[in-house]
Amino acid sequence: MVPVMLVLTRRWRASWWALRSLHTVYQSAELPDTHRMLRDTCRDFAERELQPIAASLDREHRYPRDQILQMGKMGLMAVEVPEELGGAGLDYLAYSIGMEEISRGCASTGVVMSVNNSLYLGPLLKYATDEQKKKWVSPFCTGEKVGCFALSEPGNGSDAGAANTVAKQEGDHWLLNGTKSWITNAWDASAAVVFATTDKSLAHKGISAFLVEMPTSGLSLGKKEDKLGIRASSTANLIFEDCRIPCENLLGQEGMGFKIAMHTLDAGRIGIASQALGIAQAALDCAVDYADKRFAFGAPISKLQAIQFKLADMALALESARLLTWRASMMKDNKKPFTKEAAMAKLAASEAATRISHQAIQILGGMGYVTEMPAERHYRDARITEIYEVCHCKREKNEGKTILYLLKYQAYENRTKTPREASV
Ligand SMILES: Cc1cc2nc3c(=O)[nH]c(=O)nc-3n(C[C@H](O)[C@H](O)[C@H](O)COP(=O)(O)OP(=O)(O)OC[C@H]3O[C@@H](n4cnc5c(N)ncnc54)[C@H](O)[C@@H]3O)c2cc1C
Repeated sequence: MVPVMLVLTRRWRASWWALRSLHTVYQSAELPDTHRMLRDTCRDFAERELQPIAASLDREHRYPRDQILQMGKMGLMAVEVPEELGGAGLDYLAYSIGMEEISRGCASTGVVMSVNNSLYLGPLLKYATDEQKKKWVSPFCTGEKVGCFALSEPGNGSDAGAANTVAKQEGDHWLLNGTKSWITNAWDASAAVVFATTDKSLAHKGISAFLVEMPTSGLSLGKKEDKLGIRASSTANLIFEDCRIPCENLLGQEGMGFKIAMHTLDAGRIGIASQALGIAQAALDCAVDYADKRFAFGAPISKLQAIQFKLADMALALESARLLTWRASMMKDNKKPFTKEAAMAKLAASEAATRISHQAIQILGGMGYVTEMPAERHYRDARITEIYEVCHCKREKNEGKTILYLLKYQAYENRTKTPREASV
């Protein structure tokens, strides 16, 4: 692998045009040097390698294999994985920044990166044994192999604790039966983290996580879903029919599956928030550029106050969501609880992406409605960020519970402290 820092330094020197965008100035003032260099490297790559082909990848539903391989070489397919296992050994803030820039170039490539980093490698880093890491982590850092995460089922998406897929132990094997739905990377993946019920009587405490090689006998793939957006990433059912996997493929302990899934999705939401930021930034860039070039009534439409107000609102929503996303990443990096912050960041960023890409189409007028311009793709791509990794209503409900829990916890803590300590 090309050492990531070497690549970063080279790209940093070459990225003169990074200063073109408004948000560069803001970010330069805030980010540590390493993260600025990473951002510029990823931006350079995305503008050179992804932006020019994003529309055709989308049109042809084509997996960006060559680009994913290049991203593997840059360390972007395993940002948080330690170097000794083949990853870049960077932090979650770095991952968030990389995700935003890649998604700004191509949101489909962004989701492939997101699933491999946070949903596949994430739980392995935390719960796999050293032996498992050798087999299931290192080969997935280079972009040659990608993983997937199979939690949702046809009968339950938001209600993740109600898994109908079952795993039954038979001697030195587990036998898996059931269907997982909506699985990102399904057609391109070489392994999956699969959640299945091992003891129905224990409800969500009877769910376990398994590592499954792909392809493998007893596992078949459903048709590729024909989606509204992120069309270059594959989404399909995984169908298990007496699929036999060795006992050592259990991830963590039996019955830990639900906990593993929830921890994984906490971190995953930061990745999706970052994807949403990238889509929103691309839509805003497109609208700013068009508003300067499009003349009406003898002047560029960017001179019209109504357009300026729209652009200002879009930039405000984007910057606010970006701050929440970085904060959630930094809390994770500092080993602080971040469930609530990640949920808030995802909510803010996904809603911002939908709103900004909607307004971008409005600013482009008729040109926003045709595939000649990228605005309509950004709008289609933005929509998914409000749905996957737990959709809106549920997340708001969860968020409510989290806030309530934290407030209760704080009140209890305060009772055990002197008044002076409690006010700190
Ligand atoms: C493109 C794509 C990629 C995906 N990738 C993956 C993947 O890689 N792995 C994976 O496991 N899953 C994946 N998913 C699944 C995704 O996480 C689910 O679609 C999502 O969690 C919603 O579940 P559902 O579709 O079953 O909707 P449902 O759960 O049926 O929800 C339908 C509606 O009911 C609302 N609702 C549900 N429960 C509540 C509640 N308690 N209170 C209030 N309202 C509620 C929801 O907000 C929603 O509006 C993907 C989905 C898509 C579309």
